[in-house]
Amino acid sequence: MKSLWSDEEANAFANDDLAMRVYTSRLLGSSDDLVMHGGGNTSVKATARDFFGNDVEVLYVKGSGWDLKTIEKPGFPAIRLKETRMLAELDTLSDPDMTRQLRALMLDPSAPSPSVEAILHAILPAKFIDHTHTDAIVTLSNNPRGDKILAELFPDCLVLPYIMPGFILSRQVNEAIKRHDPGQYKGIILMHHGVFTYSDAAKNAYEDMIELVTRAEDYIAAHGETKLPTAIYAVDLFDLARIRKAVSNARGSAQLAMLDQTPEAQGFSSLANVADIATRGPITPDHVIRTKRTPVVISTKPADGVPEVAQFVSDYKAYFEAFSHAGLQILDPAPRFGIWRNAGSVAFGSSEKECNIIADIARHTRWAIQTGESVGGWEALPAKDIFELEYWVLEQAKLGKSAGAGKPHQGKVALVTGANSGIGKAACEALAADGAVVVGLDINPAVVSQLNRNGMSGIVCDLTDSKSVAAAVNQVITRYGGLDIVVCNAGIFKSGERIADHTEHTWDQTIAINLTATQRFMTATIPYLKLGVNPSLLVVGSRNFAAPGPGAAAYSVSKAGITQLARVAALELAADGIRVNVVHPDAVFDTALWTEDALARSASRYGLSVEEYKTKNLLGKEIRAADVGRLLSALASDIFGATTGAQIPIDGGSDRVI
Ligand code: ZN
Repeated sequence: MKSLWSDEEANAFANDDLAMRVYTSRLLGSSDDLVMHGGGNTSVKATARDFFGNDVEVLYVKGSGWDLKTIEKPGFPAIRLKETRMLAELDTLSDPDMTRQLRALMLDPSAPSPSVEAILHAILPAKFIDHTHTDAIVTLSNNPRGDKILAELFPDCLVLPYIMPGFILSRQVNEAIKRHDPGQYKGIILMHHGVFTYSDAAKNAYEDMIELVTRAEDYIAAHGETKLPTAIYAVDLFDLARIRKAVSNARGSAQLAMLDQTPEAQGFSSLANVADIATRGPITPDHVIRTKRTPVVISTKPADGVPEVAQFVSDYKAYFEAFSHAGLQILDPAPRFGIWRNAGSVAFGSSEKECNIIADIARHTRWAIQTGESVGGWEALPAKDIFELEYWVLEQAKLGKSAGAGKPHQGKVALVTGANSGIGKAACEALAADGAVVVGLDINPAVVSQLNRNGMSGIVCDLTDSKSVAAAVNQVITRYGGLDIVVCNAGIFKSGERIADHTEHTWDQTIAINLTATQRFMTATIPYLKLGVNPSLLVVGSRNFAAPGPGAAAYSVSKAGITQLARVAALELAADGIRVNVVHPDAVFDTALWTEDALARSASRYGLSVEEYKTKNLLGKEIRAADVGRLLSALASDIFGATTGAQIPIDGGSDRVI
């Protein structure tokens, strides 16, 4: 492992302890072989001024909710050092008392709560303390000969057996450093957990960490296999959607299923003994709150309903029964990732962010398992220890209220056509605001940059080209594992031509894009919707269907056609639980179809001002694309869970329709 320390950069912080602490914390955080996603923590002991202007000795320690990779000064709450050390001398300290007392010792009570390892940082007698959960050293401790290997390799470190983090770990270390002067050691290694290095100079603490990790990496390279097997297999996307559905059912809410089909992931998934080695346990118990103790191992061609997921659920319930005690509530029993034989690794989560965290941990775990096996065997902590951490309230608190929980479409996947502007873009925004990941299709390449934000993305697609449609749908399933909401919105409007003057081109093009392409799109997406979670198919019609006007025959006929298509689809798909509904907007002027000129011309035709023309309906209300977007998202939600085959006007009220 390479040191990232730069004297030049560090010089800028020479007279500012906290700035220096931020600097080397970020160096540690920038390597995910050292710490991942909020793991690891650092501290610095310094003098701070309290409210009365008195200087007090404090510990600045990483606060909860901060990540070492991006941490800033406010990420280090200051707690009174002397009293924090006194906590380590207590015989017992309950978790609620520890949390309360640490908060009581903060100079600023509005700062984030200090790390659960704060007491340990306080008792180590050095200014800068660095703590990581480095893969290489922890992997060597997860070995049948782990204690021997570590003793040989790290004679200059104090190696301590595993104990649960929090107060009892602080006490264990406190007792140990009373017996062995920590000054004679380069670091403290906690079996199955991680490493502490410490020094009065930030550079030394950091460089010591890098040196210890490098020593472990070199040992692994010399005694084991670091070139891991790879494989390349094709994946059946319908099977992926089936797996996603089974896991969503087990979790009780829609889950994304993000497949890692890299050669490394596929190589691991195709190992003959993968079901054994992948399910012995995590690298460190810290990971359990993200990944659960084990992944679900799924066969290459899962049977209907994916029985492996049901088995995982009943095994999880048995694990809970075996280790739980009074007062504990079982967490949801669904797996967080799967090893899919000959296909790769699948991360399950309610958001892309959650899936990405799980996928990162899964990637590191398969490295640790395979290299661990090659240096004498992979052995994780007993299930009981993992359970204690999984159900430790202080660990669960780290997950916090996961962002977006409770949103109607959290974990769902939506696909919208004609998404570059107007109602299509507004539908994407409304569905994303309600928690879905949304992919918008448009023939206009601008859709890619237009939707590149907030859980949305764009794909360029010509809906009149079946190959282009199939490629886009495949891309969505490959990325998210399934499809739950489809909005058929794309359409063109060429006004002015009466039937007597209709050109073949206008007619053919309008029917091809508005009607035929909608049917083709339904045909391409329905097989995946059948495997979706509370699936919903939505069609954007037009007031024109119920109340046509002269001069737009092709448009009116195409909108009537897709309305009828939706009614037939509602009949055909009800048995699969797919709801099909139509919205009929009118006079939505903030779309690409309407320029200011066109709006002014139309208004003057009726002898109205633009403002009057925009609100020419019974309610006297202007209808915006965003209103239609929100209606579409609501129609896809549980609010309309018992509604199918419906046509909902959104036109401000029309006496011709009512
Ligand atoms: Zn730790």
